Amino acid sequence: MKANCWFGKHDVQVVDVPDPKILNQHDTIVKISSTAICGSDLHLYNALVPTMEKGDILGHEFMGEVVETGGAVKKLKTGDRVVVSFPISCGNCFFCQRELFSLCENTNPNAWIAEKFFGHSPAGIYGYTHMLGGFAGGQAQYVRVPFADVGTIKIPENLSDEQVLFLSDIFPTGYMAAENCNIQPGDTIAVWGCGPVGQFAMKSAFLLGAERVVGIDRFPYRMDIARKKIDAEVINYEECDVYETLMDMTGGLGPDACIDAVGMEAHVPGVIGAYDRAKQAMMLETDRPHALRQAILACRKGGTVSVPGVYGGFDDKIPLGAMMNKALTFKTGQTHVQHYFEPLLKRIGNGEIDPSFVITHRMALEDAPTGYDLFLNKENDCLKVVLKPQ
Ligand SMILES: [Zn+2]
Ligand SMILES: [Zn+2]
Repeated sequence: MKANCWFGKHDVQVVDVPDPKILNQHDTIVKISSTAICGSDLHLYNALVPTMEKGDILGHEFMGEVVETGGAVKKLKTGDRVVVSFPISCGNCFFCQRELFSLCENTNPNAWIAEKFFGHSPAGIYGYTHMLGGFAGGQAQYVRVPFADVGTIKIPENLSDEQVLFLSDIFPTGYMAAENCNIQPGDTIAVWGCGPVGQFAMKSAFLLGAERVVGIDRFPYRMDIARKKIDAEVINYEECDVYETLMDMTGGLGPDACIDAVGMEAHVPGVIGAYDRAKQAMMLETDRPHALRQAILACRKGGTVSVPGVYGGFDDKIPLGAMMNKALTFKTGQTHVQHYFEPLLKRIGNGEIDPSFVITHRMALEDAPTGYDLFLNKENDCLKVVLKPQ
């Protein structure tokens, strides 16, 4: 089959690789119909994350058709159309039973590496380093899906791929970030970053009852999408002082909750070996640690700072004094995608949200290298690339 593979910094190539096989009775093989490039894939593309190996198949946002099932798979059968969650979860451990799926104890065969960095390992993730399991990703024609009964949701025929694909990651990720804000009627929610996760965090904040949502970014085309598709107010941080502007907008109180949808994916797991290099590169990119610092300083007293996605854990710029003295609540975590599958599919089915609004580019799987370049460089107003295997 064809797959988009990592070969090093700014080097991904679509090459021929062996087809995946059922390795475990809980596996299925899915024929990919749509897959996407995630912001966190760009950090692999920038070679900022250790434990990638040449030839690793990328991609953790994908969906398709079940073409083969292992003997222990109960829920799925050949021909089912499914979206797959980016964390791989067993469904039975202490964490899975509490629906904390991204913390699954049983799906990272290389947990010992992650334990060195974090004390404990999160779940395995598709196409995302050997430290997180070394699983082949879904930017390919086929993928092996372990624990398929737990990690998939069946999709009704009346919904298109583009409407449901982002149930795999960015819609639940933005939604969980907003849910973590414990939104009350009348609340103002500020979101740093108008990338795909930021867009879903903003939209979700409205779905959960926020009165005002403010998006903070520097790319006019991304702010336009937030304004036009979501009705968010926007702040260009290159044109004004973010703290002063937010205080003006909120009568000096500050936003009730602040979501950092910029920094988390920049600090992808295990940057300890590449700490200085990563830190330097992040400063060059988009002031990422700065966004979280701003969020903490701007948040109203007693408010919540919500950080979706992944931090490396080595950021030394977090103003803990402000967090403590303002009695802030800090909520974070990799997304428990499977927990959100059913309720968010329902919201899509009801027409409360059409997640396809973030898609700006559609291309063949073979054009993945072009997609990575466009997304990295924010060319052609690129917000989200969807790849279609032939
Ligand atoms: Zn992602
Ligand atoms: Zn588990």
